[in-house]
Amino acid sequence: MCLLEKNKKKIVGIDLGTTNSAIATLEGGIPTIISNHEGGRTTPSIVAFSATGETLIGQIAKRQSIINPENTFYSIKRLIGKKYEEIKFELNRVAYKIKEDINKTIKVYSPNLKKEFSPEEISSLILKKLINDANRYFNETITQAVITVPAYFNESERLATKDSGLIAGLDVLRILNEPTAAALAYGLGKKKNEIILIFDLGGGTFDVSILEIGEDIFEVLATSGDTHLGGDNFDQAIVNYIISNFNEKENIDLRNDKQALQRIIEAAEKAKIELSTLEITQINLPFICINNNNPKHINIDISRAKFESLISNIIKKCTAPVNLALEDAKLSFSSIDKVILVGGSTRVPAVRNLLIELLKKMPNESINPDEVVALGAAVQAGIIAGEITDLILLDVTPLSLGVEIEGGLMSTIIKRNASIPTKHTEIFSTSSDNQQNVEIHILQGENNLAKNNKSLGIFNLEKLPLGPKGTIKINVSFEINADGLLLVTASEVTSGITKKITIK
Ligand code: ADP
Ligand code: MG
Repeated sequence: MCLLEKNKKKIVGIDLGTTNSAIATLEGGIPTIISNHEGGRTTPSIVAFSATGETLIGQIAKRQSIINPENTFYSIKRLIGKKYEEIKFELNRVAYKIKEDINKTIKVYSPNLKKEFSPEEISSLILKKLINDANRYFNETITQAVITVPAYFNESERLATKDSGLIAGLDVLRILNEPTAAALAYGLGKKKNEIILIFDLGGGTFDVSILEIGEDIFEVLATSGDTHLGGDNFDQAIVNYIISNFNEKENIDLRNDKQALQRIIEAAEKAKIELSTLEITQINLPFICINNNNPKHINIDISRAKFESLISNIIKKCTAPVNLALEDAKLSFSSIDKVILVGGSTRVPAVRNLLIELLKKMPNESINPDEVVALGAAVQAGIIAGEITDLILLDVTPLSLGVEIEGGLMSTIIKRNASIPTKHTEIFSTSSDNQQNVEIHILQGENNLAKNNKSLGIFNLEKLPLGPKGTIKINVSFEINADGLLLVTASEVTSGITKKITIK
């Protein structure tokens, strides 16, 4: 039995979502959502700057987005830790301006403030709002947190998320994979051994993980996903349909009218949500634009069947990651005991039908898909704080890591779905006589060709001892810590020349 520590610092768990975020804590050993100041249990991940220079976050930012589209920043998580060239798809999807910054990074621009922000800065404002709500709840200042990310996030996306926490003044004690968090919340206190599949389809990302959970060990067997798949794509499919329908009738392209576009995006999301329960819904947008002094209106019906035909290609994209995760876990669908739904988009009937078809099983509906990730982050916070002592979590790395070798190939050092923390070392040798230096090009991805994978960094090992090719040996070791972050060390065996790099 342990006694309580006086003035022990609280650690909160945060689900920093693309669309919605949530914050939770352990209350007497039970994970509990902390409601925000407005009374909501989740907070829209939206930041806006008003004409008077005020910063609006969450529900109030969402409410004014139609009248202030260029200063309202949503889906920022789709940009975080990415290079400008990776986000082409986003450029015409959002109503705010995205710019390329130095080092090919991204900035968003607020005309009201005449100021640029990095995605990390926008995310930090969301985190600050959540923390302020928690401060109010505890009546003390919170400085420590566990933050979740999609399992499929790569190194730079994880680091950028950690940086957002830093900017918000937080000590981020752990970056936790969202599906793993969901499993922690689902499995806490369960006495049975089970193999569960977590299917998380949110606004912008899709994650699937397979875990084996027991009374005190949770082991991730495999994880897979798609960082560009979610409810936003469903909304976009409806938006495209409305716009082309209107264009056919009126010969006006509303894509160039930011305010109209924002209204259509919102109406599309509302229609989509209604179609989760209704068979048909109507989209009414009076005065959507004025043409030669003639006001124009949008008035169209969308049936569930029509919606399903618009999104059938998007839904099909969920299949491959599920199969890949099963394959990596060396399991067939029949070994899955429970399917746990996470994320608002799992309420779309077509998504559930796909799962039933794929796994021949009704999904478990015992937990709230909007809250489960934050609750699991609170469980992890409890493990770190020592409040929960009898639970061990074994997570995995989502993507293979390696280095570039002769011929532009990638040599894998840590295979995807390896348990973390982990360390692997491989021995390489020089490729020409009296070679003085070697280049260590660190890669992440599954392709044999280096150029098709993500480059995480390059460094050189210099002043190598002279010798015929193949005789100079270089040890390259990759070490991943519990946050999924990577440390690479390269050293020449005889001289001991060593270089280390943490991926930043
Ligand atoms: P994220 O993890 O990306 O923050 P959430 O899990 O909060 O996302 O899911 C948000 C997505 O779920 C949005 O695209 C939203 O429109 C969608 N969504 C929420 N409720 C429903 C519903 N009842 N039917 C269909 N989609 C829904
Ligand atoms: Mg989510």
